[in-house]
Amino acid sequence: MQSRRTRAEKVRPYDMRGGSATELVYTLESFLADQPMFGDVGTQSLWFDDVDLEACAVRGFYSQQETALHLLLSQLADYELYQYGYDDDDFKEDVGAFQRFVDTKFRDMGILTPKVFLDGTYDQIFRARKTHAAAFKKGLDTLVDQAFAQIWTTRYLLEAVGNRLRPIVRSLKQAKYNNLAFDGRISRCSIPTWVVQLVRHRDRERCFHCGNVVSSALVEVQSFHIDHMIPLADGGTNDPTNFVLACPDCNRRKGMNLWPSIPKFYWPNFRNVQSF
Ligand SMILES: [Zn+2]
Repeated sequence: MQSRRTRAEKVRPYDMRGGSATELVYTLESFLADQPMFGDVGTQSLWFDDVDLEACAVRGFYSQQETALHLLLSQLADYELYQYGYDDDDFKEDVGAFQRFVDTKFRDMGILTPKVFLDGTYDQIFRARKTHAAAFKKGLDTLVDQAFAQIWTTRYLLEAVGNRLRPIVRSLKQAKYNNLAFDGRISRCSIPTWVVQLVRHRDRERCFHCGNVVSSALVEVQSFHIDHMIPLADGGTNDPTNFVLACPDCNRRKGMNLWPSIPKFYWPNFRNVQSF
């Protein structure tokens, strides 16, 4: 790997809050904001050059437990934590920094840090890096899952991921992916029950658009839709991260393109709830 500034220079909010998964969430934000990997603090900026967004968009053809966002986070984790972290030759200049890095990461993965990293000699430590590379890479899945759990409830980030995938989806060709509805448009597919349940739980039984309760014993007519936050017609996917809960009225309005914009904040409205 190319030489760059040392890790000690890297001061970002997660250094105070701690947690490798939170670090990964910030990495995603940098990526979505088109900022370099470690912020603009060094003499060199590293960019996320080879992120395969097409693979993420294709993942969103259907609702899968390993979502498009999982795939994106995995790639970012591999870049930042493996290629420019664990496997970074810069660490050879500062073995202590490597020891702190690797110990923190293994802990956050829930893996016991291999002893050699804690008390080995310089040569032993950097030889052991190869031995334990597979375990480290496997552990990244845990950090991806933790980061996903944080992002799942952070709607603006989900929306930003969808917006990032949108031009990619729109550029897909049916000649290459014959299950597309047509060029640039993913086919509608049935939403698995587990996705419906997770979206209802996350959105706390409230319509994403108007905030009304849609499913509760207190509601006269229990009826809800699962909406594509970014419509399929506009480069949206069937990825679980692109679904929101909607009431029938809002769903209809949206279908008729009468919904001007998605509100970012709502004041709860109980007019749909029976008085009691
Ligand atoms: Zn509504």
